[in-house]
Amino acid sequence: MPELPEVEITARLIGGAAAGASVESALTPGINALKSYDPPLSELTGRTLERVGRRGKLFLVEFDGELTMLVHLMSAGRLQLFDTRASVRDRASRLLVRLDDGRELRLREFGTRQRAWVKLMRAGEVDDEETLAALGPEAWPDPPAFDELLDQPRPLYAVLRDQHVVAGIGRSWVDEILHAAMLSPFKRGSDLEPDEAERLREATVRRLGEAIALYEQVIALPIPDKLPMPLTVHRRNGEPCPRCGDQLEAVFYEDYVMCYCPTCQTEGKLMKDRRLSRLLK
Ligand SMILES: [Zn+2]
Repeated sequence: MPELPEVEITARLIGGAAAGASVESALTPGINALKSYDPPLSELTGRTLERVGRRGKLFLVEFDGELTMLVHLMSAGRLQLFDTRASVRDRASRLLVRLDDGRELRLREFGTRQRAWVKLMRAGEVDDEETLAALGPEAWPDPPAFDELLDQPRPLYAVLRDQHVVAGIGRSWVDEILHAAMLSPFKRGSDLEPDEAERLREATVRRLGEAIALYEQVIALPIPDKLPMPLTVHRRNGEPCPRCGDQLEAVFYEDYVMCYCPTCQTEGKLMKDRRLSRLLK
């Protein structure tokens, strides 16, 4: 699942490689991922791709003529730039932006659900777009102080992933951040002591920044289908904790898993109570 570091490196690499290229045509094959109707996608023809930016987990692809394409990968999408066009129909493609130098920018989506989406907007509409307008401050590189930001009677595991509170963190990085901060996923945001809030903010900036720095070294175009996420806790239940060596545990939900170290994070307590699990949904 792409989160802030994965979207950031994708935006940097594709923006660096495709800025200045002209659009030959744009289309949305199969299920229509386009959630806007004005301006039409055909307005992109002949435009120059100027920049690929990021806000939270979304891409902002900017074209000349003040057109911006907002792309949300949801849980299983990828934005990829290929040197050539697909020779056979790529069933994962939701959007193709064909560049006149032969390259192709593709929004692809894996798995059975088709939820990734695209909106084409005029520049003046971007700030008011509902998804963007509802986002909290960026989790990286310089979020505001966490004691006020997270001051809510909800578990940290839920508050940190709430894009309205702080933008960019999902189910993978939340496990890493809470482990790095040595805080229980079930501790409530409003119960954070000032030193814990500062520790959590520091862990957030550090872990997300470390991931981006690693990606700068190991990822190249085209963005791979599966990104090499440097996760040390998430989905590693049963393995030794990288800090203390005790066994990492997990709480299982319908379609995902939360991992933590009881020794480092929950004073040795095992969190397997289904009632607790339901509270997080
Ligand atoms: Zn540990």
